[in-house]
Amino acid sequence: MANATAKQLSEVIGISVDKLLDQLSAAGVTVAGADDPISDEDKLKLLESLRTSHGKAEAGGPKKITLNRKSKSELKVSGVSGRNATTKTINVEVRKKRTYVRPSEVETEGEALAVVEADTAPIKESVEVVAEVLAEAVEKAVELVIDPVALAAAKEAEEASAREAEEARLEMEKEHAEAEKQAYSKSLQEVEAAQEIIVKKMAEAAAASAAENAAKAALEEASRAAAAAVANEEKNGKGKRGDDKGTRYGRKELHVKPGGKQGAGGRKQKFKKSRRQVSDPNNAHGFAMPTTPIIRNVEISDSMTVGELAQKMAVKAGDVVRALMQMGSMSTINQVLDVDTATLVVEEMGHNVIAVVTEDDFENKLFENVAEASEDKVSRPPVVTIMGHVDHGKTSLLDYIRKSRVTSGEAGGITQHIGAYHVETDHGMITFLDTPGHAAFSAMRARGAQATDIVVLVVAADDGVMPQTREAIDHARAANVPLVIAVNKMDKENADPDRVKNELAALEVIPEDWGGENMFVHVSAITGDGVEKLLEAILLQSELLELKSPNTGSAKGIVVEATLDKGRGPVATILVQSGELKKGQLVLAGTQYGRVRAMYDESSTAITSAGPSIPVVVLGLSGVPNAGDEVFVVENERKAREFAEARESKIREAKLTDQHKTKLQGMFDAMTEGEVSEVNVLIKADVQGSAEAIREALHKLSTDEVRANIISCGVGGLSESDINLASASSAMVVGFNVRADTAAKRAAESGGVDIRYYSIIYEVIDIVKAAMSGMLAPEARENILGLATVKEVYSSPKFGDVAGSMVIEGVVRKGQPIRVLRNNVVIYEGELESLRRFKDAVEEVRMGTECGIAVKNYNDVRPGDQIEVFERVEIARSLA
Ligand code: GDP
Repeated sequence: MANATAKQLSEVIGISVDKLLDQLSAAGVTVAGADDPISDEDKLKLLESLRTSHGKAEAGGPKKITLNRKSKSELKVSGVSGRNATTKTINVEVRKKRTYVRPSEVETEGEALAVVEADTAPIKESVEVVAEVLAEAVEKAVELVIDPVALAAAKEAEEASAREAEEARLEMEKEHAEAEKQAYSKSLQEVEAAQEIIVKKMAEAAAASAAENAAKAALEEASRAAAAAVANEEKNGKGKRGDDKGTRYGRKELHVKPGGKQGAGGRKQKFKKSRRQVSDPNNAHGFAMPTTPIIRNVEISDSMTVGELAQKMAVKAGDVVRALMQMGSMSTINQVLDVDTATLVVEEMGHNVIAVVTEDDFENKLFENVAEASEDKVSRPPVVTIMGHVDHGKTSLLDYIRKSRVTSGEAGGITQHIGAYHVETDHGMITFLDTPGHAAFSAMRARGAQATDIVVLVVAADDGVMPQTREAIDHARAANVPLVIAVNKMDKENADPDRVKNELAALEVIPEDWGGENMFVHVSAITGDGVEKLLEAILLQSELLELKSPNTGSAKGIVVEATLDKGRGPVATILVQSGELKKGQLVLAGTQYGRVRAMYDESSTAITSAGPSIPVVVLGLSGVPNAGDEVFVVENERKAREFAEARESKIREAKLTDQHKTKLQGMFDAMTEGEVSEVNVLIKADVQGSAEAIREALHKLSTDEVRANIISCGVGGLSESDINLASASSAMVVGFNVRADTAAKRAAESGGVDIRYYSIIYEVIDIVKAAMSGMLAPEARENILGLATVKEVYSSPKFGDVAGSMVIEGVVRKGQPIRVLRNNVVIYEGELESLRRFKDAVEEVRMGTECGIAVKNYNDVRPGDQIEVFERVEIARSLA
């Protein structure tokens, strides 16, 4: 059957008879018709001619093409080392070397003949092999796309950089695919006419393949693998030459020389491998193309970013973005998703959600992983914070208690200030937190830590309730901590404890003897009278609270204070809250960890262990933790590091999500989602009258569903402690004719607290009403354009008093309304009459320049006052 007819041959090759006849005539073979036999010689001629027509003379053309591709890109990684944010630039160099070797040449004439005597069966087989190799190549292409270097770098990178990486990656992918495509078309030219058929079939297989992108890259690999398959086929078939059984038209093998150019070197390991695989005698290969989609179990946590979610599902971030877009939500790779959205996306993409890890779970997990905590709880001493108005005697009282009580006698009576100390009384032990002011109390709470069990409110009997007394009450209430009242300075002649009682009762702090629940104790921090009684009252209150925690097992605590000591490194005062902290243990404090190298009590005595409610000074941490950070004992360094890192990233994420916590927008969102049924408001006003009026008005707004909850309502400028209180209680801050001081501004910025300034009561009511109804009312808002500090005041015959001022913020513009502020309280609102630089009248003066400001109809500007220039704008609110 050596001489098949042209028709048969055309069937084998898979082209039309006419085309074959054309090709034959082009090759100089004269064939009369479709049924004419074609001799071996003719076939060889045809082959020769086809070869030439495909641009390759027999021995011409390069035998090997090596493509070196090197691409460089840069990743900017911002990290946090210690307390400093750093930005590193990482150079990512991706090298790819591809070597293309010319497929083997035709060995002999006889083999060439065999080409033409092709039988469909081997082709089919080849095609199958091609499909398999293709699938493998697809995976390889995917591997290539996810370059390990880029991936590792991208992991390290901040989310912001991750986006860059993603872009770079996509570009690389494109480039890569392009290179592969080019290389492919080159090598294609080298493939003989018979291979053309295979390629055709292969293209069909490629079309069927799901991985569209990778297919281009895969084709190239597959084509050569096909050649290898053919060689293999030849090897197997050689011995059987002449034995035509089972084949049509005598076709047995293709024309590829066994071994090919393998010995010539330069062939990449990868190719060798695939070659080996296809030539496996059992025809088994190491790869199976996935036939069903892989369904992953995805663990979702609070505040996951799109990028992280994509990673968990092992898909590209772009796909997740697309899925989100289809769900009607535009997002970026760094967008933080809430649990519901993340769940929807995961399910949408066909994966399973197995667990929802919330922030609490995370900390619980942390705690679970920390060494076993003991179950047996015993009562523990109360932890007390002393609060009150300035000069009412907080420090004096603490000092008196410390001097008379702290068991530091043996250490020479020198107690160190470590932010906390404990005292022994006849009735039990009490721990005092000695952190200055209310700010510390709420700052800790704002960080989610509550260390205090009882607040002792010091009120001077000769002074009565003062602004900070109210503030202290607000703070304690917001934290849900009971109050014990120390009516101080009872030794003074003008002491009037009843006045204190009355005034406090007006604030709903009712004494026990009036049927309330607050203990009032009369004391003198100077004479010490009543201090004993105060301690007793504290312990009584503590009994009511039934404070209990385990006193053995792994310790948990809170950082009270921490500093960096030149000689000793980071020094932290830790209040143990449960379990027992021992010297030598490994602790995690916030994001810092380390072995407890040494431990001291408040009188600088070295100790080896500390139980619940005992404050200790700890040396050995890697860095300085923050006050309010939680402390755990951890089993080993690896875990400590893991947790520290996890916490750090949690903090970072939390910052992103919490940024809007106290912003009005966040409140709207929470309201519409039905999460909150009350709107917390902190009010500071210029006069008590306004404050009360606003409080009353807001009170009346409350309905059954939503309540305006005024957590604090005071007089005077907004302080840092106000902001901390607001932040801890997710409250909106209203400044009515008052402004925030510098520290408060800073705190508001870092805590993401939205401060709103108003000067008209109904505007305040409107905005709270809007917040409560979850609706976005159009809002008239004041934009503060600039702020100037008055340096000196001189008289001008024309304008009256002129304030020589320095512009410290923004720009002061003529013709705008202004306010005069004294101690952050608005004292006058009016108009800017004239604005001058030296002798010249000017339109505006920018920050950092001096100017003369005359205020129309107002002649009481004083040095130290501030002049604020503002404008009123109507903002149409939208959800975007
Ligand atoms: P703090 O600002 O609340 O810490 O108040 P201090 O403890 O610094 O006290 C302010 C002033 O009041 C100091 O001059 C104290 O001597 C004085 N003082 C504090 N307690 C008493 C007291 O019980 N009786 C008298 N007479 N003076 C007191």
